[in-house]
Amino acid sequence: MVRGIRPEATGREILDVEYCPCERKPIEISPSTTTFRRKLRGQTISEVRRLAKRVVLCLSGGSFVVIEPRMSGLILVADPPTTEHRRVCWHLKPRRGKASSFEFWDRRGLGTVRLLTEVEMAELQERLGPDALEVDASMWKAILSSTRRPVKVAMLEQKLVAGIGNLYASEILHRAGISPQRSSQKITRPQCERIAEATIQVLETAIKYEGSTLGDGTYRNVLNQDGSYQNEHRVYDREGDTCPQCSQGVIKRIVQAQRSTFYCPKCQK
Ligand SMILES: [Zn+2]
Repeated sequence: MVRGIRPEATGREILDVEYCPCERKPIEISPSTTTFRRKLRGQTISEVRRLAKRVVLCLSGGSFVVIEPRMSGLILVADPPTTEHRRVCWHLKPRRGKASSFEFWDRRGLGTVRLLTEVEMAELQERLGPDALEVDASMWKAILSSTRRPVKVAMLEQKLVAGIGNLYASEILHRAGISPQRSSQKITRPQCERIAEATIQVLETAIKYEGSTLGDGTYRNVLNQDGSYQNEHRVYDREGDTCPQCSQGVIKRIVQAQRSTFYCPKCQK
């Protein structure tokens, strides 16, 4: 999402913020919609950054817009998949060859759009663990030693390590050859090296393929096109398939902390 929106939004002035009429569960916007709109008008988006699973618009006045899409939100510069789930639209000062607006679209209304001061932004960063792409083997060892929860559950805990989504945790552990049910504290140093390496492989590939469009079709890139990472999944959503790694195991699905986990009982011990 960040990669798609960055070239369109960077350096552009926000002319107005429009709230789209939506009869579904409203998304959370803070402070109030009135204040949000008043404070954004006339500001320039100096930079677009990713913060774990959020998109951050850095504003010329020093504040930040933090968009958290959660399960079903999208940031789009093209026409949305449906019109009834449109939420917030940012109108930009026209520039030749660039989009005149971008919007936040959210089917289920779980997403949030927040305006943060510099201090609030620093607090948010402090609450999040280090970015998964920057965690090396020794950091993984320290992070996992701090909890007894199963390693897959710990990998989703954003306070420990930020930026690993549910499907990616299954893929990372499969590549690393580690059982998702293993206690975090029992993960050895060589296993941490494999987790660090697999995390980078999986997340960088996902960024390259612009995410995964699963069976529900919710995920789209900024141009409202399918992501294509789902073609790269080795275990996620592949219950019953033969494991592509060992060609012997059959991919199994279990539920951990209310989320689906997929793994190969044969090569993930
Ligand atoms: Zn296997």
